[in-house]
Amino acid sequence: MTLSDGRRPGNRGVAADHVSLRRNNLSVVLRHVRDLGPRSRARIAADTGLNKATVSSLVAELVERGLLREGPADSTRALGRPGQLVELDGSGVCGVGAEINVDYLAVAALDLAGDIVLEKRVPVDVAPLDPGTTLDRLADLVREAVAAVDARGGQLAGVTLAVPGLVEGDTGELKLAPNLGWGEVSVTQEMRSRLGEPSYGLHVDNEANLAALAEYSEIRKSDQVQDLVLLTGAVGVGGGMVTGGHLLRGGHGYSGEVGHMPVAPPGRTCGCGRTGCWETVVGLTALLHKATDRDDPVRDPSLDVEQRLAGITRRAEAGDARTLTALKDVGTWLGIGGAILVNILNPDVLVLGGYFAVLGPWLKEPLEKAIRDRVIAPDGGGCRVVRSDLGFAAAVRGGAQISLDQVFVDPTVIGRAEPGVAQ
Ligand SMILES: [Zn+2]
Repeated sequence: MTLSDGRRPGNRGVAADHVSLRRNNLSVVLRHVRDLGPRSRARIAADTGLNKATVSSLVAELVERGLLREGPADSTRALGRPGQLVELDGSGVCGVGAEINVDYLAVAALDLAGDIVLEKRVPVDVAPLDPGTTLDRLADLVREAVAAVDARGGQLAGVTLAVPGLVEGDTGELKLAPNLGWGEVSVTQEMRSRLGEPSYGLHVDNEANLAALAEYSEIRKSDQVQDLVLLTGAVGVGGGMVTGGHLLRGGHGYSGEVGHMPVAPPGRTCGCGRTGCWETVVGLTALLHKATDRDDPVRDPSLDVEQRLAGITRRAEAGDARTLTALKDVGTWLGIGGAILVNILNPDVLVLGGYFAVLGPWLKEPLEKAIRDRVIAPDGGGCRVVRSDLGFAAAVRGGAQISLDQVFVDPTVIGRAEPGVAQ
């Protein structure tokens, strides 16, 4: 929180300063209501140190922009005329997240309240396609999401694209996505041109980072943890780390490449070209190779990944020995690498995402045992292992959320309502 940023504006400065001060104060009031819930104008003024007239004017503007709305009467007032509460609105303001992964493309549109406007995932075997074809198909999904936002008269705050690879912090461009077989691809520029140079912002981020943000928001609804590690299990294995409530990005944006920790014996060559990478023993390909034969339909990337995992689940539930051995093996390796992360980061929670979440009932026990055995802190440093409820939707939800975050930083990115014109 940066409530002190907006306190008691003085009357010095040029016009540009007034504009940025006003923008900052709008942000302070909007975030205040988001974080602390419905409240009266007088209470906002008292809490933020802004004067009452300024707060009334700021609230009026945020209402015009569809970000706040009048709520119920303030029942806490014992004397005098009851004041009116204002509450977060934002049902007409949406963010979009879209994802390229090794065997699927996905999209989600969320409104400011977190309600889902559209969510969709399509199985696509991306590696054999050239990047242009994949981006064409991703652009189709983004257009579909934008159309869904338009159809409800909403305004789009922005689009964030999740990619399973290294995204450089300074430029926001994809440097390498080994499991897609992509080197440097200017995803932002390629997508902007496919989408007709749109007026909304379009950004690229690492899928595990976005998924970690979504998991963090989800878990914070019921638990005040501040330190979380997310492991995303797909063909590749990614990590997203939240420490002290902030996403850990590293010096150049490349942190979290846990799938390439050299912890495994030399065996299968990793998508990155090395051997011994963690994902060669815990990635989805590793599991499928251990549990199934070459012509098994659960290996077919043209089928939806959850459908394929349902096949593994059925076999595990039926007690199939090969499947159970493979799951135990993957769970143990998951714990060996997981223990390294727990020793270093001491998270409150280790979240199993992607396929790890689906097969968590079988992976969790050997994983927790390996953590107990290998983490030096008592009781695994207090780390709890939980399965994600968001699963394969985490990255697109995180992408939509980070797009919406821009509205809280600068509410003026959302236009004011014009009388008689749908926004
Ligand atoms: Zn690797």
